[in-house]
Amino acid sequence: MKSEKIVVLSGAGISAESGLATFRGAEGLWEGHNIYDVATPEAWDNDPELVLRFYNMRRRDVRSVRPNLAHEALVELERHYEVTIITQNIDDLHERAGSSQVIHLHGEILKARSTAKPDLLIDLGDRDIELGDRCPLGSQLRPHVVWFGESVPEIFKAGRMAESADILIVVGTSLAVYPAAGLVTAAKSAHSVYVVNPEIPEAVNRPGIHLIKETACSGLPRLVRELKAKA
Ligand code: NAD
Repeated sequence: MKSEKIVVLSGAGISAESGLATFRGAEGLWEGHNIYDVATPEAWDNDPELVLRFYNMRRRDVRSVRPNLAHEALVELERHYEVTIITQNIDDLHERAGSSQVIHLHGEILKARSTAKPDLLIDLGDRDIELGDRCPLGSQLRPHVVWFGESVPEIFKAGRMAESADILIVVGTSLAVYPAAGLVTAAKSAHSVYVVNPEIPEAVNRPGIHLIKETACSGLPRLVRELKAKA
């Protein structure tokens, strides 16, 4: 019987060793772009072509990489625990590795969204989005990602998950983006909190939290082995 519930909060760092760039590490730039030029509603209003081009490139990056040992370790955990992954990542590497319960807080880059009806989503398959590509209602398609300054509809579901966690694992996130970062404090009933990151974020650098100052591919498989032994 699966006894305890593990909630994993993952960020861009878990996909770094697959070859996808994080952005905090590079002085707030994401693949050479200031995030406010490409990942805000204002950027979309000012230069939708640039925004589409940026996400078309990121989508190609995602398609060209594979899940790594850290994504795979989390799949293994499902054999022993009830596992929910709350990811800030817009890539699909958790799903491709085989994780069965993934909440995408900031959307999914492989989907497009109608600008007229936000819940009208379209799987892109191997396509890009170009200016002039329209949803069935006739409005321009945009990437299905949450931009800075936009609301995060999945946060309520994620908050309920975090509140019910027995164990919380925080991996590859700078905890600089809210409301995602607040999920750590929402996990009040967790008896154990683990953080896997070569640079431990200040917000979780405190007594009582297990700090694993390593990359995801090295720290996470070992943590999973330890948790399996305790299950
Ligand atoms: P972030 O870029 O702010 O921080 C990355 C964190 O990962 C840092 O704390 C860094 O120390 C850590 N890190 C770097 N290499 C690591 C490794 N090998 N193993 C473990 N940790 C490592 O990322 P964030 O906190 O997720 O916030 C970024 C936002 O940018 C999110 O909203 C996300 O949607 C978006 N983003 C997504 C992707 C993706 O989907 N792969 C990539 C870049 C940015």
